[in-house]
Parts: sequence; structure tokens; C-alpha cells
Amino acid sequence: MTQPSHKALVPFVSVDNMMRLVHHIGVEQVLTDLAAYVEEDFLRWELFDKTPRVASHSDVGVIELMPTSDGEAYGFKYVNGHPKNTSEGLQTVTAFGLLADVYTGYPVLLTEMTMLTALRTAATSAMVAKHLAPKGADTMAMIGNGAQSEFQTLAMKAILGLKTVRLYDVDAAATRKCAENLKNSGLNVVTCGSPEEAIQGAQILTTCTADKQCATILSDNMVGAGVHINAIGGDCPGKTELAKGILERSTVFVEFPPQTRIEGEIQQMDPDFAVTEMWEVISGTAKGRTDARQITLFDSVGFAIEDFSALRYIRDKVADTAFSEDLDMLADPDDPRDLFGMLQRAKA
Ligand code: NAD
Repeated sequence: MTQPSHKALVPFVSVDNMMRLVHHIGVEQVLTDLAAYVEEDFLRWELFDKTPRVASHSDVGVIELMPTSDGEAYGFKYVNGHPKNTSEGLQTVTAFGLLADVYTGYPVLLTEMTMLTALRTAATSAMVAKHLAPKGADTMAMIGNGAQSEFQTLAMKAILGLKTVRLYDVDAAATRKCAENLKNSGLNVVTCGSPEEAIQGAQILTTCTADKQCATILSDNMVGAGVHINAIGGDCPGKTELAKGILERSTVFVEFPPQTRIEGEIQQMDPDFAVTEMWEVISGTAKGRTDARQITLFDSVGFAIEDFSALRYIRDKVADTAFSEDLDMLADPDDPRDLFGMLQRAKA
């Protein structure tokens, strides 16, 4: 079909198409691919525009915009975080995003990003764990068994070779759901009755809880030497998961310090608390784990470049496929100055 001349159509990936695409490729393959895209962008970190995300807080949650550009493409994500939503039958986190061509400013992709955020967050966690976790790590405690939890677990399996996951949530129904979803994953899935039980024998401790408060999911005495902590849930001012003492004993790795100091676990520390930027570890300019007894801590808050990588991946994967539909979202008259004429002709 020829395209009407006033239309510059934009590929749109709906939730249905995202799910079809993920199944077409395979969940673990998508996680592996996304980790490679994120790692590639961490390697060219310095050329990106970077800013802490623009957050609009309310008593019940936060709505955020996350923009970045590599000079050729520009991307942003709209994302919310509303811990109370689950009790109302709604998602805690929902998102959509857009990629545009810097040369024309025209969008080249609009996509759902609720699924994609869970996938990219998990892929980033596992990519980071690949660099920081102790050698041979094959057991993870997964504390918080909500929407992100299966994605986190499967990424650790696909990218790190995880064999056992030990699940704990304050809500036993969440743990049952997670265990059920992972039962055919090939992982040894252990459900636990307390966080203390969940961390038994685990070399990776993932905290992924949602509560708009400074919580203590892991207390200082729970964390022994040599583990890697993947702290996902503390991602907003006034919302943390770890006891301060853990941060004092750990080597802390972050995405973008100006954003993490506002939102991450390190909001509990002085503004000059020493952290290592993860892109530097990946590009070899900073050290990762240097000692088997060291506690490494990834203070993840989710940064715009990871969404940009995910948008790039989806753009590449849906090109010339049936996994997107064209959206008439840009008015583009034949005579660029005759926008009004286009409106008038539409009346005829
Ligand atoms: P969710 O609401 O679906 O799940 C959260 C789970 O945490 C629930 O099952 C809840 O019962 C459990 N929980 C709450 N308090 C607990 C406690 N004290 N101990 C054990 N479990 C507890 O949320 P989600 O979508 O899975 O997201 C989890 C968190 O991760 C949110 O805070 C979200 O903002 C954050 N997040 C971070 C990133 C990132 O890039 N770092 C990305 C996505 C989500």
C-alpha cells in the first residue's frame, strides 16, 4: 500500500507484539542479546548526553522521564513507580519509550516498555554480575518476588549460569507465583520462609522489593564476605533496601553517580562517598572485584542509557518484520510550510 503523502508513519510495538517478539526470539536469548547491547553502550558511555532522570514525586509514587542521546539517535522512556498499585490490581512499574533520529528529529520507534524495562533491568543486573560476582557463583537469593523477579532470575541463568534460586517475599502468594513461573526453567527453585533462610549458601543476593520507605531488607549481620549484592528496589529518594553498615563494608558500583546519589542506596551516605562507575569497570579503566572476600554491591537505579540500548535492540529486531504496526503520529505535509493547508484539505 502506498503511504498517503502527508504521513510519516512511525513503527509502534504494542504489548502484544512485544510478547510475540520475545517468544519468537526466546526469553533467555532476548536477555542475552539485551545484555550485549547494554554492555556495548556502557563501552561508549562518554559520548552519551547524560542527566539524572526528571522525576515528579507524589505521596504515592513517582513519574519519570529518562532521556539520552548518542549523537545519532535520541531516546526517552516514560516510567512510573507506584508501590501501592499492586494492592489495586495495577502494575508498580509501567513504561513506554521512543527512539528518534537526531538528524531529522523524527521518531523512528514508539514502543511499550513495561515488559522491556523488566527485560533490560534483568539483563543489566546479570551483565554487571558477570563482571563482579565471585567466581563460580551459581546460587542467588531473590528477595521480593514481584513483577521483576522471574526476569532477574532468568537473566542470571542465561548470562551467568545460575543453577539455584532461593525465593523470599513478605507475601507468600508472590513467592508461589514466582516459583510456579520458574518451575520449568531448568533452575532449582527453593522457596524460603524468611530472608535469612533465602540467603543461605547464596553468592548473589538480589533485593527487588517495592515499598516507598527506607526499608531494611538486608541487615548488616546478614551479609557475609565474598557475596555480590544486586540491589534493584531502592531507586527513589526515601526508598532504600539495605542497612547503611552494608554500604560501609562494600565496594559500591553504580550507573550514573549524580542520579544514584539522589535515588540509590547511597542516598544514605555522604555526598562524597566513594563509588565506582560500572562503565569504567567494563572498559577496563577501573577495577571490579579484586578479592574473593570482598562484598561487591551494584546499587542499581536504572539509567537512561540502558533504555536507549533496549530501544536500539527493538528497532533492530522489528525492522522488516510483522512485530510492529505503523502509527500515524506525525503531521508531515508535502509542502512543509503548508500545515494549515493540510488541515483544510482534511475537511474536504
Ligand atoms: P512489585 O510490586 O511487582 O513487587 C515487589 C515485591 O516486593 C512484592 O511482591 C512485595 O510483596 C515484596 N516486598 C515488599 N516489601 C518486602 C519486604 N520487606 N521483604 C520481602 N519482600 C517485600 O514490584 P516490581 O515491579 O517487581 O519492582 C520491584 C522494585 O524494583 C520496585 O521498587 C521498582 O521501583 C524497582 N525497579 C528498579 C529498576 C532498576 O532499574 N533498578 C527497574 C524496575 C523496577
